[in-house]
Amino acid sequence: MQLPREVIVGNDVLRRVGETCRRLGFSESALVVTGPRVQAIAAQPVRESLSDSGYKVQEVLVKSSSLPQSREVEHRIGKVKPSIVIGVGGGKDIDIAKLSSANKSVPFISIPTAASHDGIASPVVSMRGYGKPYSFMAHAPVAIMADVGVIARSPFRLLASGCGDVIGKYTAVRDWRLAHRIKNEYYGDYAADLALMSARLVIRNANVVRTMTETGIRTVVEALISCGVAMSIAGSSRPCSGAEHLFSHALGMVAPHPALHGEQVGVGTIMCAYLHGANWQLIRDVLHRIGAPTTARELAIERKYVIKALTIAHKIRPDRYTILGEKGLTREAAERVAQVTAVIE
Ligand SMILES: [Zn+2]
Repeated sequence: MQLPREVIVGNDVLRRVGETCRRLGFSESALVVTGPRVQAIAAQPVRESLSDSGYKVQEVLVKSSSLPQSREVEHRIGKVKPSIVIGVGGGKDIDIAKLSSANKSVPFISIPTAASHDGIASPVVSMRGYGKPYSFMAHAPVAIMADVGVIARSPFRLLASGCGDVIGKYTAVRDWRLAHRIKNEYYGDYAADLALMSARLVIRNANVVRTMTETGIRTVVEALISCGVAMSIAGSSRPCSGAEHLFSHALGMVAPHPALHGEQVGVGTIMCAYLHGANWQLIRDVLHRIGAPTTARELAIERKYVIKALTIAHKIRPDRYTILGEKGLTREAAERVAQVTAVIE
């Protein structure tokens, strides 16, 4: 079980990166992995903080979330030989920092600039390639440093998407229990409860979250971090990823213009909660209150792609047993679940 040693959520956090690295015992040099959009607002203060603490700092810019991109960064790690890799940015930047550092056995620190999904704190990397989105275990960040002021400057849509990803645990944990009962799959109460608790936290605080105040951002960031820890404890993405995620991945394959990960997961959660016989109306109302999409129209995705995604979702990851079963939904059943839950008209 790999868990982060430090989690810092607050204001002016970026200025404390150097001292945090010192405290964690990293010496000499650091490699900052970041993206062009956040370079000035986040990576620059991180570099300054590291330099002030006496670190030799180098930076690499991430262009895509792909295996060749990770290999490029690994090559750079091989040259620079940093004692710590620091991922600063959104999902793409954090994922590349996580994967490349894991492959080179160098610890990494996660500094998210948006609260859009739980990859900011998890040991799991999501990547597209070979025509299919897939995810695998890399390693957990040694520290997570989330600057609320920086995240407050990111678009609200990203925070709402993060809420969708967290609320997805409502059905992900139900799928895990099902797999335990039907397939005798390992099930861990603690990891499951941690994931569910995060979902409940966001559900309970929907009205605060939508204001995007410091408290609201903090709630979502802490929930996302708990989800990441749940995955570290379970040793897989199981507590955090069930049929609602398979639906989102399937949508990513069939829709010409997919929406954000957490937005799709949120809509998937409404429909999967219905399939589970759970309170899908609660999920829909909470997402609506937060300001996250609850329909195909709000996702800006045509109904035919939603139905198609529902019928192929079970094929994305056959080893992951969910409410979709081994054969998946028929077209008629897919249409009905999407209609009853008002995801399509
Ligand atoms: Zn997710």
